[in-house]
Amino acid sequence: MRVAVFSTKSYDRQFLDAANADHAHDLVYFEPKLDRTTAPLAEGFPAVCLFINDAPDVAALEILASGGTRLLALRSAGFNHVDLKAAARLGIRVMRVPAYSPYAVAEHAVALILMLNRKLYRAYNRVRDDNFSLEGLLGFDLHGRTVGVVGTGKIGMVFAQIMHGFGCQLLGYDAYPNPQFEEIGAARYVQLPELIENADIISLHCPLLPATYHLIDAEAIDHMKPNTMLINTSRGGLIDTKAAIAGIKSGKIGYLGLDVYEQEENLFFEDLSDTVIQDDDYQLLQSFPNVVLTAHQAFFTRDALKNIAETTLKNITDFEQARPSPNEVKLQEIVVAKTPS
Ligand code: NAD
Repeated sequence: MRVAVFSTKSYDRQFLDAANADHAHDLVYFEPKLDRTTAPLAEGFPAVCLFINDAPDVAALEILASGGTRLLALRSAGFNHVDLKAAARLGIRVMRVPAYSPYAVAEHAVALILMLNRKLYRAYNRVRDDNFSLEGLLGFDLHGRTVGVVGTGKIGMVFAQIMHGFGCQLLGYDAYPNPQFEEIGAARYVQLPELIENADIISLHCPLLPATYHLIDAEAIDHMKPNTMLINTSRGGLIDTKAAIAGIKSGKIGYLGLDVYEQEENLFFEDLSDTVIQDDDYQLLQSFPNVVLTAHQAFFTRDALKNIAETTLKNITDFEQARPSPNEVKLQEIVVAKTPS
């Protein structure tokens, strides 16, 4: 099948080409993001392959549909960027990669915790500069600290198990609790306010939905312990950025580790080192000594990219051969879905 692959980077091409040996689809790579201005590039392609910062809104989908596109093959688990109603109306089906490596994302969340706690970003630069002073590098033992896990699905569970290995106490919150969470030693479910009030470290692992938009807002931050560490490797919209900035200034948030950012679609995955970034909230966050940002790289391991490529191409083959697929995102199921991440 002819597939227009948008937002292509060298690593997408590498892993998709390798996985395509088992499928022989005709993959045509485009570097731009998909939006209403680039959608005409896909004219005549029955399948379009997208990543998280592509913008398949109603206008882009109408152009795709009129050009003959019938499938959006997402190289992601999340589908919050797709106008599913418009896709259904236009007869465009949507497939995703529901799971590829929960370890990749969970391990990155832990990397952010260690980096912030032990100030590795400062230590690295200092030692490179032959500055061996320890002033300002004081950390704390993770052992015995209370970690709040918001969303105990695939990634949240792996994260919880790793933090249990450090000797942390675990508080979990999930709209749909998973009995296996409490089987991890020293783990119990509580309501979100109790988690927020008692955790030393809060890590977000739930999907971005209307119900979770700005889950961490000014009120939630107000109820945190002073100096709480907040980690988000899930979706930027879970945190109200302006409230987080105020929380850093007030000292409620003592450490902020973000792999995702509310306005990331204008920034991430591109080299903007020669440009003046106009996003003041982003610039302010970057100016704080206790904030570490990574550019949505938590998924970025060899293992995850291999799984993403294989599942994406299998989804396209299933569509081509009219086989039912558990990876199809169906609008009617989303309304009642348990975990639409
Ligand atoms: P999952 O579906 O296995 O788990 C999500 C959990 O969140 C489920 O247990 C679900 O019940 C829970 N949940 C749903 N609504 C909730 C609510 N209102 N409040 C609290 N919990 C709620 O998903 P996953 O594979 O663990 O992925 C989690 C998130 O990680 C995804 O939604 C995605 O946004 C993000 N993610 C980020 C990256 C990255 O590179 N940074 C990569 C993959 C996934």
